[in-house]
Amino acid sequence: METLQVKCQSCNRQLSSFFCRECRTVVPVPRGVDYFRYLGLPQRPQIDADRLEQTYLRLSQEYHPDRHPDLDPEQHAAILQRSALLNQAYACLKEPKQRVQYLVELLTQGERSASHAIPPAVATLFRQVQTALSEADGYLCEAERPKSTLEAAAFALGSGERERHAKALAHCHEATHAQQDEALAQLAEIDALWDQPGEQSEEAFHRLAALADTLSYLDRLEAQVHERLVKLRMVTLPNLARP
Ligand SMILES: [Zn+2]
Repeated sequence: METLQVKCQSCNRQLSSFFCRECRTVVPVPRGVDYFRYLGLPQRPQIDADRLEQTYLRLSQEYHPDRHPDLDPEQHAAILQRSALLNQAYACLKEPKQRVQYLVELLTQGERSASHAIPPAVATLFRQVQTALSEADGYLCEAERPKSTLEAAAFALGSGERERHAKALAHCHEATHAQQDEALAQLAEIDALWDQPGEQSEEAFHRLAALADTLSYLDRLEAQVHERLVKLRMVTLPNLARP
């Protein structure tokens, strides 16, 4: 089992965190240490959630500034920085979606640009979302257009329209999430291929990269749907009861 192994620069002791209790010093984080290594976890698509949780709790206590009132200002700033980095690493690795994106970026050193083509798995959903978006846009456009009193009254009477668009968009929102869960269900399979020899691990990487593209595509779709839902909510219908 891989665990966090750190060496104290002052006393050469083997540590399991970036703080040496003997020397009361914060150990520098070597260059190139990624979130996985920072938490002593293997660099792979799936992680042991219990282990992540335990390591996080242990290190949170270790790096908690309140536990080190004796540190000088420089060391105090350093321990705060360890603690902030721990929170970032934990938040990223805990969420499968973020972990996948992070791992792909890490392995390609940010050299790979995500494909802009519609991932095949998302094609049907894409069409459904585009339809709902363009219908909602038509309604929003009509809502913003200056209207005569009579037109405004007619628009207000058709208030069921707004609900209809909101419903269609809410449905798209759910479908986007369902698709995301479905995509993430592949993680276990990809992970099983991860340390296999040659072609299989290559296939695992390609599948992971495709998964990252699908997830970021779904994120963009979701953002568009969300934006229209917010706009729909902001449409004010004229009050017909007012004289
Ligand atoms: Zn030491």
